Amino acid sequence: MRWSFPVGKVFGIPIRVHYTFLLLLAFIWYAESSIYGPQTGLNSVILWLLIFLCVLLHELGHSRVAQSYGLNIVSIVLLPIGGVSQITDIPKDPIKEVNITIAGPIVNFVIAGLLFAVGKLLDPSLAFSQISLQSGNILVDLFWANVMLGVFNIIPAYPMDGGRILRGILAMKRDYVEATRLAADVGKLFAIGFIVFGLFYNWWLILIGIFVFSGATSEMATTVITTSLEKLIVSDLMVTDFKTISPEEPMTAVVEKSLHTFQHDFPVVSDGKFVGVLTRSAVIESLHNRLHETKVGEIAKTSFPTISPDETAAEALTAMRTAHVTVAPVEKDGKLLGIITTEKLLEASDVFNEKGK
Ligand SMILES: [Zn+2]
Repeated sequence: MRWSFPVGKVFGIPIRVHYTFLLLLAFIWYAESSIYGPQTGLNSVILWLLIFLCVLLHELGHSRVAQSYGLNIVSIVLLPIGGVSQITDIPKDPIKEVNITIAGPIVNFVIAGLLFAVGKLLDPSLAFSQISLQSGNILVDLFWANVMLGVFNIIPAYPMDGGRILRGILAMKRDYVEATRLAADVGKLFAIGFIVFGLFYNWWLILIGIFVFSGATSEMATTVITTSLEKLIVSDLMVTDFKTISPEEPMTAVVEKSLHTFQHDFPVVSDGKFVGVLTRSAVIESLHNRLHETKVGEIAKTSFPTISPDETAAEALTAMRTAHVTVAPVEKDGKLLGIITTEKLLEASDVFNEKGK
């Protein structure tokens, strides 16, 4: 994810923190210390760091169950509005998805239970009755933070955890796309509710409402695309008639070639081998920076997935999106058969959905 920096690895999963998260901490420190003094400011920052440690544990709950199903976790990113586990190829198996999803809130309820037990052991008179993050006791504050995290996440506002669980339950009885559409509609209703409620009571909810609404919209679109692409095979969609460029050519040659073709992205081929990708945006950027004489090899992206002709279009799209490329080689037994572009894949899913209507 852009605008984030790495902080370490847990269970082989890279943990990243979004830069805006630092802004949140600075804001909390400033707001609290200017009213209550520097000590309170520092205490609040520590409390929020601990709360986000619990958010991380929540995400690790999702990720560990996903790993137990053999899934790959790209990273966990901590944002001011919570955490995101980037899991590739979430199976369209409702039971697995429900298990992966429910593990997160369960972690928060377990932490809350442990904090309650430890608090009562240390001081039997410790009161947990008041919902507060400013009780003056860190155990009580963290207890309530975890109860709220757990409860808030199981609200069925897709794509929040509760909404995913709802989608999973719906998908056990009906078509996956239909289940997603229903869950996304419920999610959007909740999102509007969050925004309206947030306007009067808590601006934080407005942010979450916007996040849920756009998340429900984009995940619905992605589900429609991937579901249709699962029924298509790469060999039917790959392009076999395409122009290539050599890494030794100057950028001016690429500009010349791009004037004579509708092709957006160029495979960089050396001795019959696919060695890189030159996208239209990279070509435009090089022109902008006046790199006319620069060799193609210096600008081309050299990390890309190799797609097999037998893969489904959905698998190809996931691999290409994960690698952030718009074009990739289709190879079998080391032989270059053609290229596949994300443009072609998305076009195919459109055509497929038009036919389905
Ligand atoms: Zn979660």
